[in-house]
Amino acid sequence: MSENLVIILVGALILVTLIFAGVILYLFSKLLQERKNTVSEQSLSEKFQHLKEKTEEGPTSYCKNHPQDHAHGMCAICQDMFCDDCIKEHDGHTFCGPHFRLFVSHEWQELESIKTTPSTPETAFPIYDFKRDLWKDEQLPAIISTHYKINIDDDSIESYVKLLVRTEEFEELKSRYAKFNQ
Ligand SMILES: [Zn+2]
Ligand SMILES: [Zn+2]
Repeated sequence: MSENLVIILVGALILVTLIFAGVILYLFSKLLQERKNTVSEQSLSEKFQHLKEKTEEGPTSYCKNHPQDHAHGMCAICQDMFCDDCIKEHDGHTFCGPHFRLFVSHEWQELESIKTTPSTPETAFPIYDFKRDLWKDEQLPAIISTHYKINIDDDSIESYVKLLVRTEEFEELKSRYAKFNQ
């Protein structure tokens, strides 16, 4: 009879030990799971931080065609930014692929030339505004070209900001530009 009791006691002890071990294992795996979550949360916030930094640098500093590549130049016509692979240089201007083809397939004429100095850059603002509106509202291309000159009388730097438009649109844009400045 006492032998049976010992067997029951031993059996109960084994059962308790097993349950205990099960609970320990369960808690341990939960702990591991939680640590894993914290780690992935951390790397996620790191990713967001990276993304934030990327956006804070400004959307203009990445290529319009290749959002993962740094931009190295602005197209003189659409004024979007492009990487080395996309940007093309010609006649002292930089262009994206389609606008390089547009530039070389047309004749261009000087519509306006405004003299500016480093202390009075605002005199050329009408040219920039007119060009921006033409492209934004009607997709009409215009090119701004800046030429620098040293005034030998007083050694100052003068720059001439010029607006070039396609010959076929020259007359129409000339009168529109005059109205724009009224
Ligand atoms: Zn372009
Ligand atoms: Zn590119």
